[in-house]
Amino acid sequence: MSSKYNSFFNKDWLTDKSFSSWIEPAASVHQARCKLCSKSFELSNMGRKAVTSHEASAQHKKNSTICPMQTSVAQFMQPKNVGKKSDPDNTAGFHF
Ligand SMILES: [Zn+2]
Repeated sequence: MSSKYNSFFNKDWLTDKSFSSWIEPAASVHQARCKLCSKSFELSNMGRKAVTSHEASAQHKKNSTICPMQTSVAQFMQPKNVGKKSDPDNTAGFHF
C-alpha cells in the first residue's frame, strides 16, 4: 500500500534510457536530481510523471542540448564520402 501523496525515487529510472543520462537520486527519497540542470525536483504525487515533466521543461531542454550537440558536430566533422573515393586532392580542397 503506497501513499498517494508522495512518490519515491524509483531506481529503475537510473537504467531507463529516457532518463539514465541525467537522473540521479536526490537527498530526499521524494525527490530526484538532474545532473544537467544541477537541481533536485519534487516527485510529489506524480512519480515518473514528475520526471518526464522535468525532462520537458525549457531549462532542461536547453541544458540537455549542450552535450549531444557537441557529439553530433564531431560526427559531422568526419567526411564520410572521402574514404569512399580515396582521393587526396578532394580531401585537401575540403574546407569549412
Ligand atoms: Zn534537468
